[in-house]
Amino acid sequence: MGPPGAGKGTQAKRMAAAYDLVQLSTGDMLRNAVEDGTDVGHQVKAVQASGELVSDDIVVAIVAERIAESDCAKGFILDGFPRTVSQANSLDKMLAGKGMKIDHVVEIRVDDEKLIARIAGRFSCSDCGAAYHEQFNRPKVENVCDICGGVTFNRRSDDNAEAVAVRLNLYHGQTAPLLPYYEAQHTLRSIDGMAAIDQVTAQIKSAIEGTEAID
Ligand code: AMP
Repeated sequence: MGPPGAGKGTQAKRMAAAYDLVQLSTGDMLRNAVEDGTDVGHQVKAVQASGELVSDDIVVAIVAERIAESDCAKGFILDGFPRTVSQANSLDKMLAGKGMKIDHVVEIRVDDEKLIARIAGRFSCSDCGAAYHEQFNRPKVENVCDICGGVTFNRRSDDNAEAVAVRLNLYHGQTAPLLPYYEAQHTLRSIDGMAAIDQVTAQIKSAIEGTEAID
C-alpha cells in the first residue's frame, strides 16, 4: 500500500521475483482490459484516466477471478488492492474461503511533495511493463528495456497533474484508513519509501523476513 508514485509497482515486481510469487496489480489488469477493448475495459477507461476509483464490484470480480488461477495457489502479491474498506472486507472473505490469509501488508511511505516529481518522470516498457524513471531509474542502454530488449515505452494516461491530485486525495481519504485495520491484525509493515529503490527493496525484505507471519 502507498500513495500513487510511492513505488508499489516497482517493489511488487522485485518481491515477485525474489519470492517466486505472482504480482497481481489491479491497475495493470484494468489497463490491459482498456487496451484489449474488453467490456470491463470500456466501462473503466474514462474512470481510470481521471484518477477516480473503479467500482468495488468490478475490481473485486477481477481479483476473485485471477486468484482462482493455478499460479496463485501458493500465494501472491497484491499491488493496488484493496483500496477501500469494502474491498478489504471482500478480500478477507475471498481468502477465508480458500483457507488463505494475508501475511504481510507493506506500506510504502513517501511525502506528498516528492510524489509529483516521481510520477512526472516515470514510463514503462510497452512490451513487458518494466518500470523506469527519467531521473531515478533509466534503462542501462538508452531507449532499450533492460528486461526484454523492447524499444517502445509508454506513459500512463492518469499520470497528469489533475489525475494525480485526484489519486492522492483518494489515497488519503479511502485507502489510508485501511492501515489501522491491518495494524490491528499485526500484518502492517511500514517502510520509508523516500530512500533509493534498492534500499527500499532491502527494507521490505528485512521487514518481511524478520516478522513471523501470524497464524
Ligand atoms: P494503479 O496502477 O494501482 O495506480 O491504479 C491505476 C488506476 O486503476 C486507479 O487510479 C483506479 O482508477 C484503478 N484501480 C486500480 N486498482 C483499483 C482498486 N483496487 N479499486 C479501484 N480502482 C482501482
